[in-house]
Amino acid sequence: MSRKWVYDFTEGDGKNKKLLGGKGANLCEMTQIDLNVPPGFVITTEACLAYLDDPERRLPEGVMEQVHANLAAVEKKTGRTFGGREKPLLVSVRSGSAISMPGMMDTILNLGLNSQTLLGLINGTGNDRFGYDAYRRFIQLFGKVALGVPEEKFDTEFEAVKQKAGVKHDVDLSTSDLTDICDRFLKVVQLFTHKPFPTDPYEQLEIAIKAVFNSWMGKRAIDYRREFKITPEQANGTAVNVVAMVFGNMGNDSATGVGFTRDPGTGENVMFGEYLVNAQGEDVVAGIRTPKPVAAMAQELPKQFNELMELRRKLEAHYKEVQDFEYTIEKGTLYCLQTRNGKMNATALVRTSVEMVKTGLIDKRQALLRINPEMLNQLLFPRLDPKNSSKPVAKGLPASPGAAIGIAVFDADRAEKLGRTGERVILVREETKPEDIHGFFASQGILTSRGGKTSHAAVVARGMGKPCVSGAEGITVDIHLKVARVGDTEFYEGDLITIDGTTGLVYLGEVPMIEAEFSPELETILSWADEVAQLQVMANADTPEDSVRALKYGAMGIGLCRTERMFNGVERLPIMVEMIIAETKEDRIAALGKLLPIQREDFKQIFEVMAPRPVTIRLLDPPIHEFLPTEKQLVDEIKELKNLRETIRGMRVLTDAAHFMNLSEIKSKIQGFTDPELVDTVIAKKETMLKKVRALHEVNPMLGHRGVRLGLTFPEIYEMQIRAVLEATAECLKAGIEVHPEIMVPQVCTAQELKRVKEWVLEIQKSVEKAYGLALKFKFGSMLEVVRACMRADNLAEEAEFFSFGTNDLTQATFSFSREDAENKFLPMYNLSNILQDNPFEVLDVKGVGRLMEQAVKWGRQVRADMKVGICGEHGGHPASIIFCHKIGLSYVSCSGPRVPIARLAAAHAVLLEKI
Ligand code: PEP
Ligand code: MG
Repeated sequence: MSRKWVYDFTEGDGKNKKLLGGKGANLCEMTQIDLNVPPGFVITTEACLAYLDDPERRLPEGVMEQVHANLAAVEKKTGRTFGGREKPLLVSVRSGSAISMPGMMDTILNLGLNSQTLLGLINGTGNDRFGYDAYRRFIQLFGKVALGVPEEKFDTEFEAVKQKAGVKHDVDLSTSDLTDICDRFLKVVQLFTHKPFPTDPYEQLEIAIKAVFNSWMGKRAIDYRREFKITPEQANGTAVNVVAMVFGNMGNDSATGVGFTRDPGTGENVMFGEYLVNAQGEDVVAGIRTPKPVAAMAQELPKQFNELMELRRKLEAHYKEVQDFEYTIEKGTLYCLQTRNGKMNATALVRTSVEMVKTGLIDKRQALLRINPEMLNQLLFPRLDPKNSSKPVAKGLPASPGAAIGIAVFDADRAEKLGRTGERVILVREETKPEDIHGFFASQGILTSRGGKTSHAAVVARGMGKPCVSGAEGITVDIHLKVARVGDTEFYEGDLITIDGTTGLVYLGEVPMIEAEFSPELETILSWADEVAQLQVMANADTPEDSVRALKYGAMGIGLCRTERMFNGVERLPIMVEMIIAETKEDRIAALGKLLPIQREDFKQIFEVMAPRPVTIRLLDPPIHEFLPTEKQLVDEIKELKNLRETIRGMRVLTDAAHFMNLSEIKSKIQGFTDPELVDTVIAKKETMLKKVRALHEVNPMLGHRGVRLGLTFPEIYEMQIRAVLEATAECLKAGIEVHPEIMVPQVCTAQELKRVKEWVLEIQKSVEKAYGLALKFKFGSMLEVVRACMRADNLAEEAEFFSFGTNDLTQATFSFSREDAENKFLPMYNLSNILQDNPFEVLDVKGVGRLMEQAVKWGRQVRADMKVGICGEHGGHPASIIFCHKIGLSYVSCSGPRVPIARLAAAHAVLLEKI
């Protein structure tokens, strides 16, 4: 007995998507809950893998025998015969892997047709036009997918016949036109393959099964898996679904459509979708004819419309998820051909989550888990400013919400190329095909002149969260001349355009945008997330303005205030420079004296904004040369200044001879020049700076004189900062504002460093308490961003009341990869060749850096059981990294303001996933 490779829809396990693929599993499940699914069976993903493993690409032993046996069962259920002259059975052969990859793999329809079965089909239906239409579709699809005939070869013939017949749409072609097309198509195949078109239905079926299996390793499927990081653990191989054909193109009582149980763009609880009367499924998806909105069916086919609404209700009630489904009406009977969880944008996901909880379809836990935290990013995208007065040049369908600006580019390869250079690109096409996928990745948005809201472009763009306008029929796209025309306006490749996927409007040029606002539904979801999460979510914010923004995103405090950023303002930098180039301690203290009130005011404002939430202020971290110009810049400037001085001296000579010139000549010569002594002073200052820059030069500045090392060398700097924090605290307390400051020391590697700084802190505390007449409460802690600090976490815990992992530096230190350079040098190659799966500066390396963190947390808490531990490196806003932080018992994560909502949801996921 060979292995079981094939499962009938009545017997396959609807939950086993890995074995049967998503589509196959759902077909089994729908059959088993009595939805009207045409009979059929699934060939497993295991068969696909075994086939792909065989160097000679033979189907594994037993597959075709089992296919024959299952086909016999389908024949019985339908009362039709595969290859029969009377009542022939036709089948569709569809791909389907565990993870849905819309349009990435192949499907063949109407399989089983040849000149004999065609006559049977025509006799049975009494509709020869329908028969030839089915036949020409089959030859074309089978020819392209299974035999590799280029699609254009068929298109050329098809257009030639349409032109000859003088018609625009394929529905207007007569039977004899379609017969002509079939003959031409058969010739195309013969010419290209040097063989006649296969007529034996079983041979057709075997070739088709192999073609679908092969499409798993096709370029577009591989690109898609790479882009969406679909690993073999998630989906390995495609299943093949062989399903009895039902026909939507049997006349005006037949139709085909695709739909979502709710609007996937807005989340509104209405059936969303489109259909075409007298058509086959690919006509809707391919965007060849522009379909009608499903609401129109209520008038056109009222009985079937009611059945469709009932099907919609049953699907949601069963799957407890918005469904994206395909259906066909064959002579008045409604069939469901496939269903899957609907890909929605973030707006729709959030809204449907809240509404489904309110109606009791799902609970809060399920609502939270169905939203991928990273998707919330979309809600923070800008949209067109409603006050803008720009006039749109065209209107299409609002296929994927959000607005995008970019230069028009008319082919996917070029879009990819330009996108890689950082250019903002809008991919403009007549219609898109799955092979355009790489162009989508590189574009800001997609604009098509044909196709509906369920066309390929629309579905893929929505899945990616990219704005898309589809079916903008007023636009004529000429991809060869790289121009699009709308009335008497035109835009060429490289011209800036703006598209609004929320309204479907297209504009020439750049239209102003505004930031997105939180919807009430998002607030609800995030409040549910906060109820569940154990990790607190803080923001990295350096200024009062950043803090206001962070609060809007729901930050529970500030986990990292990088004080150095405060010194970069135009009026502050010169004082900082004065402090750095000071020759004596007195001069340095004098400069710091000017900075103290500035810093104190900044801290005060941040405390006021965040009150009563904690604010962690990090003492100065970067090497101080970063505040000075570079050596080269100074050398160049000094050279120019010296030239200027010489010119001025030369002018003196010139002006000595000025009695030869008239007054206006003399004035024009003198204008702009000044005293050479003044220039000398500037040169002297620049030379002092240059000396300082040279003295500060280090071969490895990131491992050099920075952080606490700098603080210990120039105590006055940290003393000023500590005083500024504590005085700001005292002033807030006096004003009745509750504040929870935390002073954090960067780059610590030994407890001795912390001890020294702590002594200053305690001293300054006493003096501030005395001056203000009150008691101060605050925390003192350490960053853990040096490997040694992690290894000595127990010792550091003697001094520190909290730790914060600086995983940017800790990653750099653990890998010995420069955080400044690695991402532009070898890391992409490392990722592509799978030496490293992820970029460790983006995704926390749990196996190395994470292990170090886990140990440090344990050791730290052995000494101080209630030790507050957080993370403030970039990883603090990355969902998978956040889940790890939860696992090792961190108290909080801190990330940039706009990532706070993502982190809040990820923190809830961490708890919920733990329970699963
Ligand atoms: C870190 O190293 O992770 C950190 C937060 O500090 P910075 O990025 O400022 O070095
Ligand atoms: Mg750091």
